[in-house]
Amino acid sequence: MTDVFVIGGGVIGLATAIALSQRGASVTIVERDLCGRGATWAAAGMLAPEAERLEGDLLDFGIRSRDMYPQWIANLMRLSGQDCGYWCCGMIAPILMEGDRQVLSQHPKYINREESHKRQSGLGDSILGSLWLSEDGQVNNRKLTQALLTAARSLSIKILEGTTVYEIVRDRDRVTHLDTSAGKLQSDRYILATGAWTRSLMPLPIKPIKGQMLSVFDGDRKLQRVIYASNCYIVPRQDGTIVIGATVEDNGFLQGNTAAGIAQLLSNAIAIYPAIADMQIMETWWGFRPHAPNEVPLLGKSDYENLILATGHYRNGILFAPITAKWLTDFIVDGIDNSINQK
Ligand SMILES: Cc1cc2nc3c(=O)[nH]c(=O)nc-3n(C[C@H](O)[C@H](O)[C@H](O)COP(=O)(O)OP(=O)(O)OC[C@H]3O[C@@H](n4cnc5c(N)ncnc54)[C@H](O)[C@@H]3O)c2cc1C
Repeated sequence: MTDVFVIGGGVIGLATAIALSQRGASVTIVERDLCGRGATWAAAGMLAPEAERLEGDLLDFGIRSRDMYPQWIANLMRLSGQDCGYWCCGMIAPILMEGDRQVLSQHPKYINREESHKRQSGLGDSILGSLWLSEDGQVNNRKLTQALLTAARSLSIKILEGTTVYEIVRDRDRVTHLDTSAGKLQSDRYILATGAWTRSLMPLPIKPIKGQMLSVFDGDRKLQRVIYASNCYIVPRQDGTIVIGATVEDNGFLQGNTAAGIAQLLSNAIAIYPAIADMQIMETWWGFRPHAPNEVPLLGKSDYENLILATGHYRNGILFAPITAKWLTDFIVDGIDNSINQK
């Protein structure tokens, strides 16, 4: 008997399933593809509430989640025996315009051009100074997915991959069952963690925002900090891969990389870190961020008493995963109803 069905096996569904299982629930994940192949696979893995300039309650939510990361990763490593590429490497947020430099030179985390170059050699001449965000970092989201999956299996969470939910069948204010490609599935509670595709199952205000990305290989491994500029970010992995992102495109589920998208990312990245010009391109890809109004995730209560929302994490779902899993578990197991105030 399953207590909870989680619809969607991205980072949010997996993390929540694990947290619930560790509190004694019997959990099944229903995923139409392979787990972790949606936005979770496409992400850069930055844990960057400060670089992302989150504000108000959302900033607090992000910082709390970033603070939860060391323990959350330790739990996953213990369950899975796998490394997740979690790296508190710090971030340089370069300032490229003199007007911005004058304003940001009053910021407590401002460092001048020389100090920026000391933090990271090889920065481009266009950098006038930067913010040094020592607590922002990264996780390798693809390794993280593998660790989450192994951890979920170690807890005997049932994972139904290749199973599409066609309809969440409701009767008045309750969900009665799921109509799926594997037939009718029924449990006490249902968690909706379907990312950018949420609207195909529920009339909620979630839309896809496409991001194109690419990676290059840095044989010298000299880049040791994430560089987060206003027009691109550059994320060095510990194995020498450098992830470069990302476009922000509001054009539905239009698939594919475009020449213009990749050209724009490369020219911005080369201006900021010129050594990229000589690096080999490894991969290009794209993904769909689940955008919610005011960029605030929809978490917890829905219009149906046994349907719980876990969607709309937009640009920061990898960062928000630990706190989302905790809040939803507190809600389901202990009845604690946390919420993020809108801006
Ligand atoms: C280019 C890009 C870069 C990003 N960079 C970062 C970053 O650096 N840091 C960060 O924190 N966040 C980043 N994000 C955002 C982050 O990736 C997302 O917020 C996060 O992955 C959302 O996780 P999720 O589990 O909600 O969605 P997803 O990972 O998309 O998972 C949803 C799952 O639901 C499944 N599904 C959908 N419909 C159904 C159905 N009907 N039946 C069964 N299964 C279904 C899908 O197949 C999918 O596997 C980035 C996103 C993109 C696209």
